[in-house]
Amino acid sequence: MTVALGMPVVPTAHDPGPRPPVNELVDSFGRVARDLRISITEKCSLRCTYCMPAEGLPALPRDATLTAVEIARLVGIAARDLGVREVRFTGGEPLMRADLEEIIARSAAAAPGVLIAMTTNGLGLTRRAERLVSAGLHRINISLDTVDPQAFAALTRRDRLHDVLAGIQAARDAGLSPVKLNAVMAEETLAGAGDLLAWAVAERLHLRFIEQMPLDADGTWDRSRMVTAADLLAELSGRFTLTPVGRPDPTAPAEEWRVDDGPATVGVIASVTRAFCGDCDRTRLTAEGTVRSCLFGDDETDLRAALRSAADDAVIADLWRGAMWNKQAGHAMGAPSFARPLRSMGAIGG
Ligand code: SAM
Ligand code: SF4
Repeated sequence: MTVALGMPVVPTAHDPGPRPPVNELVDSFGRVARDLRISITEKCSLRCTYCMPAEGLPALPRDATLTAVEIARLVGIAARDLGVREVRFTGGEPLMRADLEEIIARSAAAAPGVLIAMTTNGLGLTRRAERLVSAGLHRINISLDTVDPQAFAALTRRDRLHDVLAGIQAARDAGLSPVKLNAVMAEETLAGAGDLLAWAVAERLHLRFIEQMPLDADGTWDRSRMVTAADLLAELSGRFTLTPVGRPDPTAPAEEWRVDDGPATVGVIASVTRAFCGDCDRTRLTAEGTVRSCLFGDDETDLRAALRSAADDAVIADLWRGAMWNKQAGHAMGAPSFARPLRSMGAIGG
């Protein structure tokens, strides 16, 4: 909020004021959260340099992570009482949970009509994709930054490209459609971005490139070295004719570009250089059961304690509403006052 005094504009702290008595997850800037991201584990089978430390995140204490029953109860509250329309399981790597099928089945039963999605690195999907679909999984995003095995191994610290490609095929064979690919942009993979796009177009997979955010556990992200959406488009334009088609869904962060004569498009998510915080409709739960209103907001509200102290659904829903009302305006990544969040991406859930 700013105060004009007939003098230079003076920025002041934003006062959210009293929360209106509505059921939905509204915030004091007028946004409504309908898209729930749930991290169900901090463990992962890869060690992407822009996300995890080489040794992985420290193990959470036993019982710190929400159970399948607790997750499904929160999904039910979100759908029934808070107006959430889509739930996405993420992590860490969701496939690290042996009870993922149970989490999905219980959540689907608790929230009929809600879209159930997952973001995954794809490792292990060959064995589980069909069961996940039978449990109630509707949509899948698989992360793939490069089709070059050496670059993949360097970026993820694991030589597993062939397993990810098999996982993508398994997702398609299980009937998941569309399968979307997420590629985080990095200096090491920029030269191979054209090969990745050509492969995705040939395979009829929808690819979205994402600007890397300062959420790596190692703390090495550097604004001056990051690959921007403009860098990527310059790289791809040497090989493809790209025609802008805008943002078909204003709540979806990707700007789409038609590739050559189409029909394929490629998405670019410019989280850093063209922030879309004003349209954000997300609410997040960490694996430990805290609500996080923003990727970059360290204020978290503990729902796990309420769940485990026999609080009823109305109390939990109201805690959640309170957490979202105080959501910050945006990530302020360009501001001198910007501070990296305490949790890294693998501990928040992307
Ligand atoms: N392990 C799963 C995967 O990789 O898809 C799910 C969790 S991962 C944290 C979710 C998404 O966040 C992935 O698409 C990943 O590429 C992206 N991601 C991780 N670190 C990021 C960063 N520093 N900036 C932008 N996106 C990031
Ligand atoms: Fe694991 Fe996903 Fe993070 Fe890569 S981006 S380290 S696959 S959680």
